[in-house]
Amino acid sequence: MKKIQMKTPLVEMDGDEMTRILWKMIKEELILPFIDLKTEYYDLGLKHRDETNDQVTIDAAEATKKYGVAVKCATITPNAARVKEYDLKQMWKSPNGTIRAILDGTVFRTPIIVKGIEPVVKCWKKPITIARHAYGDVYRNVEMRIPGPGRVELVYTPADGGEQQRVTVHDFDGAGVVQGMHNLDDSIRNFAKSCFEYALSQKKDLWFATKDTISKTYDHRFKDIFQEMYDREYKEKFEAAKITYFYTLIDDVAARIMKSEGGFIWACKNYDGDVMSDLLSSASGSLAMMTSVLVSPHGYYEYEAAHGTVQRHYYKYLRGEETSTNSVATIFAWTGALRKRGELDGLSDLCDFADRLEKAVVDTIESGHMTGDLVQITTLKNPVKLSSEGFIKAIRTSLEKSFYEM
Ligand code: NAP
Ligand code: MG
Repeated sequence: MKKIQMKTPLVEMDGDEMTRILWKMIKEELILPFIDLKTEYYDLGLKHRDETNDQVTIDAAEATKKYGVAVKCATITPNAARVKEYDLKQMWKSPNGTIRAILDGTVFRTPIIVKGIEPVVKCWKKPITIARHAYGDVYRNVEMRIPGPGRVELVYTPADGGEQQRVTVHDFDGAGVVQGMHNLDDSIRNFAKSCFEYALSQKKDLWFATKDTISKTYDHRFKDIFQEMYDREYKEKFEAAKITYFYTLIDDVAARIMKSEGGFIWACKNYDGDVMSDLLSSASGSLAMMTSVLVSPHGYYEYEAAHGTVQRHYYKYLRGEETSTNSVATIFAWTGALRKRGELDGLSDLCDFADRLEKAVVDTIESGHMTGDLVQITTLKNPVKLSSEGFIKAIRTSLEKSFYEM
């Protein structure tokens, strides 16, 4: 078979521990035999980040701006234990945080749905994608303990020397607490833009919710920015794509979601997204089946698995014991990136390959062949537990079959 050709390289960000082992296996078994792969390779493994004083992370993010599409392996975010384990020069920041700050993006997480791994909520037939606004609100707040009676005020002093604005937060009779939060029109606009663009690219409805009936200025600003942008830039595009933008209250979404069949994107304010993404990922089955893509408002995409480096399995692997680590989300990071690259470069055979590989993964699991984490939760009878490598090889067999059957 002739290998599929690429035009523009993908930015490839290698990572750490067990996912680094899977990364190599995925490339060798599932990508390189089929595609004349073009990547610009960045080693974000912790050792190399330390050697380059984390410059490699910045370079990888800059390369993503240049080429538009990246695929990333899970990486260690150093803590005190890791500083010791890897003898680090310092406790480098989270690579995902660094990349997100440079690309200014929104993270969309979507569960991979297969028969036999059933969501806890029975009516969910299609995946629900969560988008979390990653700036401001309670995550950038200032707080004070109020020791006793007195007045707390909000004061705005215009930089141009204009008149101050002041509102009373509360006249305290006794002790209490107070909190000040903020957000920025620009950040909300970028969030909205990423959400509208991603909904269009996925051809899925977009839901957004706040508590604007209670928060008539703060949350209402989010609602207004989304609505203005929709009316001005996206209404016609959404209608042409036959998708809808739907705004409602956050508690209304919480109720609706339990009765919906899924298949839409749910945009959340920062705190709602923090809570709801954990709720959705645990209700959807397994963290190892959750994909994640960072979409920047400037049109850059970075694909990865939602899980970490699976450290416990890595130490088993190092001891020479057999592991059964689930590579599905990492494979879907590759297919997501290859498909996006194919779309941008007009390479339909690259998009077709991404579809085939995803189908091969789903078929393999649905035929009862899976890793240990899925064996524990599947509703299929007599599942076969495969090793990390055995699972990838089974997917290879299914993928090759799909080409022979053409
Ligand atoms: P983790 O790597 O997600 O793993 C937590 C546990 O979840 C594992 O021990 C395993 O459970 C299960 N699990 C996760 N992914 C799995 C898979 N693909 N196949 C099978 N089981 C899977 O989280 P962590 O252990 O808390 O973090 C490890 C490292 O990852 C940390 O250094 C952290 O900084 C990093 N991290 C990176 C990212 C990222 O790059 N995006 C995200 C999160 C964490 P059992 O052990 O019970 O089998
Ligand atoms: Mg959380």
